[in-house]
Parts: sequence; C-alpha cells; structure tokens
Amino acid sequence: MAKRSKKAFYVTTPIYYVNDVPHIGHAYTTIIADALNRFKKLLGNEVFFLTGTDEHGQKVERAATEKGLKPIELADQVVGRFKDLWKALNISYDFFIRTTEPFHEKSVQKIFQKLKNKGDIYKGIYKGWYCVSDENFLAEDVPLEEGGYKICPDCGKRADVVSEECYFFKLSAYQKPLLDFYAQNPTFVRPPSRMNEVISFARQGLKDLSITRTSVEWGIPVPDDADHTIYVWFDALHNYLTGIGYDWNMELFEKFWPATVHLIGKDILRFHAIFWPAFLMAAELPLPQTVFGHGWWLKDQTKMSKSKGNVLDPHIILKTFGADPLRYFLLREVPIGLDGNFSHEGFVHRVNSDLANDLGNLVQRTLIMIQNFFSGKIEETDKEEKGDKEIRLEFERLKEKVLNFYENYALSRALEEIWTYIKSVNKYLAVNEPWKLSKDQSKRKRLGRILYQAEAALRAISYLLFPVIPGSSEKIWNFLGEEKPIEEELFSELKFDNLKLGQEIKKPDPLFPRIALKDFLKEEETQPSPARKEEKMEYINFDEFKRMDLRVGEVLEAEKVEGTEKLIKLEVDIGTEKRTMVAGVADVYSAEELVGKKLVVIVNLKPAIIRGIESQGMLLAAEVEGKATIPFFDKDVLTGAKVR
Ligand SMILES: [Zn+2]
Repeated sequence: MAKRSKKAFYVTTPIYYVNDVPHIGHAYTTIIADALNRFKKLLGNEVFFLTGTDEHGQKVERAATEKGLKPIELADQVVGRFKDLWKALNISYDFFIRTTEPFHEKSVQKIFQKLKNKGDIYKGIYKGWYCVSDENFLAEDVPLEEGGYKICPDCGKRADVVSEECYFFKLSAYQKPLLDFYAQNPTFVRPPSRMNEVISFARQGLKDLSITRTSVEWGIPVPDDADHTIYVWFDALHNYLTGIGYDWNMELFEKFWPATVHLIGKDILRFHAIFWPAFLMAAELPLPQTVFGHGWWLKDQTKMSKSKGNVLDPHIILKTFGADPLRYFLLREVPIGLDGNFSHEGFVHRVNSDLANDLGNLVQRTLIMIQNFFSGKIEETDKEEKGDKEIRLEFERLKEKVLNFYENYALSRALEEIWTYIKSVNKYLAVNEPWKLSKDQSKRKRLGRILYQAEAALRAISYLLFPVIPGSSEKIWNFLGEEKPIEEELFSELKFDNLKLGQEIKKPDPLFPRIALKDFLKEEETQPSPARKEEKMEYINFDEFKRMDLRVGEVLEAEKVEGTEKLIKLEVDIGTEKRTMVAGVADVYSAEELVGKKLVVIVNLKPAIIRGIESQGMLLAAEVEGKATIPFFDKDVLTGAKVR
C-alpha cells in the first residue's frame, strides 16, 4: 500500500443513526470536526472530513413501517434533515456517507468474507436474552434482575434466553495485540482518562462478538448466507474506510488512511477503541491515530433525553442567532473532553459579552473611526511607539499559543487566549484615545498608527477565529477590504503587518446584534420545532397499546404499609393469579374500603420494589391535585376480564 502523505488530515464524526432527530449533541461533534478541519486547511494540510448516516437496523425498519414508509424512504427524509442542519451550521464536510450506498454494502461484504476466510469470523451459536415482542436480542450489558431474568429496555417485557445460529468475530484473539497497541500508543484514545477506561476494560478479557442476526431484515446480507444480516456495528464502523474510497477509489483511500482522528461521544468509546481497531487488525489495515471521546451537553445540569423533553433543537438557536454564536459557545464554554452545561442564561451572556461587546465593538469602532477620520483608507503612519509595538508582539506570542492549542484539541483554551488579546486591543484604543487625536491636525500620523495597529490586529484576530466562527471571520476580512479568501493565506505566512497601508475598508454592518434573554426565551416557546411537536404528544400505535395487559382486578386484601403516609399493600386477584401491588392512595382511601372493590390493573408492567415489597403491577387512578381517584366498576364484571 502507498504511504499516507504526511500532510494528510482525515477527521470523522460518527455516522448518525437515522432513527434520531438531529440535536445539539450531533451538532457538537460535527462543529468540533469542522473547526479542526478548517484549522488544518489553514496549516496547508490536505484534509478530508467525513460525516454521514447509519441507516440499517431493526429500529429504522420499525419506525419506517409505523410511518407507512419503506426504510430507505425514512432514511432519505432524515438525511435531508441532517444535511440542512450542516448547511445552517456552516459545516464544510467533504463527503456524506450513507451506509445504504451500494459501494459501502459491497465493501463490507468483501471485508466480512476476507475475515471469514482467515478464520477471524466463524459460525456459531449465539445464546442471549431475546425479547419476543420486539423480535430482538437485548444488548449484553442489560443487567440481570433479582429473579435471574432480564427485562427488555425497549418494551419492559420479560425476555427469554434464546439460541440462534450466527457469525462471531474472534475478538478474544485480539486482546493481547490490542493491549500491546495501547501500550505503544498511549495517546490513541484521548483524553487520557478515557484511555485508562479502555485499557482496563480490555484487561478484563474480551469475548468473541456476535456480528450477524437472522431476525433483522434491514441490513447487509452475509455473503453466501443471506438468512443472516450483518449486525449494525460491524456495518457502521467500516464507513470510515468506505467513505474515503476503500475498495472503490483506492488512490483517495491510500492518500488519507489511517484516519487522523475519529471524534465520538464518550458513550460509544468501546466500539471505537476496542472493536474497531480489532476489526482493522484482522483486515490487516493500519489503525487510526486518535479516537477522541468528547463529553456530553447537559441542559440545566441534567442529561438531555427525548423522554425528559429537554432535547435542545439547534434550529431555534440558529434562527435567532445564526451559526457562529452557537459554534462559538459550544467550543468556548468547556474543554471538549468534559461535559458542558447549556443554559439559556449562560448562552446569551456569553454571546452578548464576548461576541457583541468585546469583538463586535472592536470591529465597529475601529472601522468607523478609519471611515470618519481617513475616508476609509490609512495611507501614512508614524513609527511604532512602545505601546504600539506591544500590540504587534503580543500577537506573535498569541499565534504560537493558538497553534499549539488547536493542535492539541484545546479549542476552548485557544479561544480564551484570543479573547485576552481582543481585550488588550480594546484597552489599547481606550488608553490612546484616537477620537481626541483626531481633532489635532499635527497628530495625524500618530492617529494613523493607532488605527492601523487596531486594524492589523483585527485582521489577525479574524484569521485565528476562522476555524470556529468562519462566517463572521469572513465578514470582518471583507470589511477590511481583503480580496482573497482567508483560506488562501497559510498560517505560516500570517503576520501582523500583512495588512497593507492604503487598503480601503468597507462600511461595517453589525456582526453580532445583542439579544435580550427574554426575547430568546420567548422565541423558544413560540417556535414549533419538529422535535418539540413530537414531544408534546407522543403517539403510540395500536400494537404498542396492545402490548399493555390491562385487566379487571379484584382487591382481596389491603393493608397500610407501616411507616408510610400514602402506601397501601394490596392482594389483587387478576383472574389467573393473585398479585401483590403497592399503591400510593392511603391519603384518600382506607385499606378496609378497598377490599372487595373491582378496578383496572396493568398486569405486565415491569415489577418494582417499593419499600421492600415487590409490586407486581399497578392499579390505574386519576390524579387530581396530587390526590388519587380510583375508577371502580359499579356493575359486576368478571374478575380478570381484559380492558380494551
Ligand atoms: Zn421488548
């Protein structure tokens, strides 16, 4: 294989699952990738930035069926949504891979075959916990309940142990090679805490991995054994190869592989830091340089999730602020290895103070003074005095620091340093008071010098900010009358006095209008985003309803749970058996009055331990101002009758 060029830089995001709605977490990974990609381009690297979608699997198949669509039609819709978001966020990816592309499917099959021929993939019997109603094996890490069984996390039903024929990847054979590899490449996983996590997991022993299913139709068929489809992770991870031409554009592939960095959320670290390098070792391909596991964004200190209804829809922020404030906030607020907290207050404060006040004001007043005092063109200056020189020298130091921070994924530190500099330049103007000098004709060259320093600093600042806020940087560059695009100036050629005297500036538009917090909150409340609409009313389909086993239950015994205010323990006849349940109704009903009553019980709810008592089901009640009202049957109905 040809050697990868030293100047090649290949960055990837995970491919996003098409059963998801694009949210701030997807945006975060992709923005980091974009900033790194743009930075490397400035350094003169040849870059390739890959993102895309993971489109196979049972969840997609099922979601499509519910919407009356074919899986590929659902995928097409969601792909459109992701692409729209990347456009709105000014993401400069080079290729968008979809795992349903024929070239991807073919390559995955080829690799599968190769590994099978070598003996790294073999046929065996998979024994696992299986949910009959979802027709799906539970993930291995679903914990055992106390009774020694597992509960399906998707539907809450009890799972059974089932065996089926499947293909395994011989992960156990790669334990030692992986541990050796980690030892020789201590920065393979970043940040270092995550490297340790991976090593200790691998040390505990690696079991062979089941990589096919017979129960999933929407997937890549196993070559010569089409009853089996390749399970999603084996399929998905190979996108990093096929997206760069593996097997269909080997010239491109050889130029960029191995990847410089796979950016991922910390929740999928194991797949990328253990399975993926093992697959690559088996395929005899070079391993990626770095897997970077970034933190999560919390909303008001809690993890965002669809069920909590606190998923942040980036479109609302984009509509009010545009791309750059969001890009800036996400990259500035926390180092990318840690969790960040998104609050509206924090966001608005940072945008107003850093972008509108510090940077926006510097741009406005510098350019307006040049406009007013020099008709837009500084043609002469006096020599640098001490303070002027300091502005230039501080920039030289800044440039080195920023280079180092960007290179080491410390984007927030880079931004911090750039802002220190912006503040210095603002202070420089405040101290030198050019607006006073403008009244004295004999100080004209001095005035020219001061405004030139500020203008040159602005040019340099906008250049350094380009990876993070490309749209605004380009605007500033354009106000300054620069003709070539920022990307055409190499980082190594960037100098303070690249700004030529006599260059005519343009009248600046406001860059970052200040937004009041209350207007932003109002906007969010009135904006019906696709994500929100779904959260308001989450419909279930009839099949899901049918899964609920609701029956008429008769209360045989009831007693108050000692030491509690509200709990009553009930023995309920559900027709086929007697169940123990715990209900929080003692503030309204006495134990005695419940005995003999018939009510509605959900029978197949996952049992829960309440005050040491296993509650095997739940009775239904209306809740009015925190108090329960139980609907009793007034006619005599058969105990155990189904409620529909
Ligand atoms: Zn299930």
